[in-house]
Amino acid sequence: MSPTGGDATVREQHRPRFLTEMRTRLQGEVRTLTDGHGVVAMVREASTSTTGDWYDRAQESQGVDVVFHVANGVAEQARDKGAALDRLRGGTYGFCVNPACGAKIPEQRLRAVPEAKFCTPCGDTHERAASATRRRR
Ligand SMILES: [Zn+2]
Repeated sequence: MSPTGGDATVREQHRPRFLTEMRTRLQGEVRTLTDGHGVVAMVREASTSTTGDWYDRAQESQGVDVVFHVANGVAEQARDKGAALDRLRGGTYGFCVNPACGAKIPEQRLRAVPEAKFCTPCGDTHERAASATRRRR
């Protein structure tokens, strides 16, 4: 009888304490992004009203496009962080989501980018591809 038994792929897990730390950080960051203050509130206001100080100021500065660009960025960040929390719950957090890779993402990288879903090499490849797409537009 083998104590480790079975054919399950045993991979090195992140420390539970580290995962708790990341969960707390992500929850705090999602709350900051979605709590109705700051950019989210500003954009919500902009989308329901085309008058008032805020709109005037936006017109004076760089235009509504910039604000919506920022809002998209915020929404994307909140989504990425939410997805990271889902992976924490599902036990796949901290591992590269590239199906061909699946490597453990170093704690150092996760501390810098808690919602990171790629390991460093895959992240680089992904970013290069994304910026190439942007340039082509
Ligand atoms: Zn990878």
